[in-house]
Amino acid sequence: MSMDTGFYPTPIVKLCDEPNALYVKREDMIPYSFGGNKARKAILFFEEIDRGVYDYVVTYGSSHSNHCRVVANMAAARNIPCLIIGPEEVSDVTYNSIMMDMFGAKIITVPVDQVSRTIDEKLDELGKDGKNPYFITGGGHGNIGTRAYVNCYEEILEYQKNTNIKFDYIFFASGTGTTHAGLVCGQILHGTDEKITGISIARKNPRGRDVVLNSIREYLREEKGDITELESVIQEKTVFLDEYTGDGYGRDNSEIDEVIKDCMIRFGMPLDSTYTGKAFLGMKKYIEENKINGKNILFIHTGGTPLYFDDIKK
Ligand SMILES: *Cc1c(COP(=O)(O)O)cnc(C)c1O
Repeated sequence: MSMDTGFYPTPIVKLCDEPNALYVKREDMIPYSFGGNKARKAILFFEEIDRGVYDYVVTYGSSHSNHCRVVANMAAARNIPCLIIGPEEVSDVTYNSIMMDMFGAKIITVPVDQVSRTIDEKLDELGKDGKNPYFITGGGHGNIGTRAYVNCYEEILEYQKNTNIKFDYIFFASGTGTTHAGLVCGQILHGTDEKITGISIARKNPRGRDVVLNSIREYLREEKGDITELESVIQEKTVFLDEYTGDGYGRDNSEIDEVIKDCMIRFGMPLDSTYTGKAFLGMKKYIEENKINGKNILFIHTGGTPLYFDDIKK
C-alpha cells in the first residue's frame, strides 16, 4: 500500500499582512489520521516496514502522543500488532489514547525511568517468540524522521520558487528536534538561508539544541560521509529558542489559551497548548521582542488536532 501519493505538498496559506506577512504550512492537513509531523514521519517508517518482513511494531510515547496515535493507526491498517510502551506518569485518557485503544494497540505503562529497560525486554521477548518486531523511536526520532522534514523543507523551497515569495523566517514547535533537524539539513543541502527558528516546547539549552545538532550531524553523515567542514554552518544555522517553554512540557497557561482562542476565532485554525499554541505564542513574542516587521514569516503547523479537543474540554 503506497499511502503518500497525493499527500504532498501540504498547503501554505497566508493568515495576515501586518506587522509581517504571516504564512502557515498546514502539516495538520496531511490527509491521514489527523495529519501532523508524526504522520509525515510515520509514512516513511511504514515504507520501510512494508519493504521488510516485520510482524510487530513497537514504539514509545505517552497517552497524549500524536506519534503513537498515527503509528497505531498505520499498524492496524496492515493488521500488524502494535505495542506501545508509555510512562505511567502521563497515562490519563485523551482523544489520542482513545484512538490508540480503538486501533487495538497494546499499551503497557511503567514508571518513566523503567521505559527504556521495558522496551529492551519486550523486544527481546518478541524475538524469543519468533517475531520480527520493528522498533520506532518515540516521536519518530532518527534519520528516517529527519528525512521526512528534509522533504517538507523541499516543498517550502518549491513554494518559494513558484510564488516568488521569499521567507525570511521559519518558526515551528521543536520537541525531540527531528522536525527541526530535517529543516536545517534541507537548508544545508540546498545552500539556502531562511532563518530557521525552532521554539522549544520543553527542553532547555544547551541540551535541547545539542539534541538537534546531533540529529543534523547523524543525517548529514549518512548523506555525505565526512562532515567536518560542515560543522560551522551546522552551528550557525541551528537556532533553538528555549525562553518560551512556559511552565514546562504539556503545561498550559492562560497566555497560551488566549492565543489558541484568538487563532481559532481570527483564522479558523486550531492550535494546541503542548506544541503549536506554545510555539505560535513564542513566535509572536520573539517577533515583538526583536521588533521584526515587514518580513515574510512562515509558521509550520505541526499538527496535534486531537489535542485541540482535549484542551477545549478542560
Ligand atoms: C511531536 C510534535 C512536535 C515536535 O516535533 P519534533 O520533531 O519531535 O521536534 C510538534 N508539534 C506537534 C503537534 C507534535 O506532535
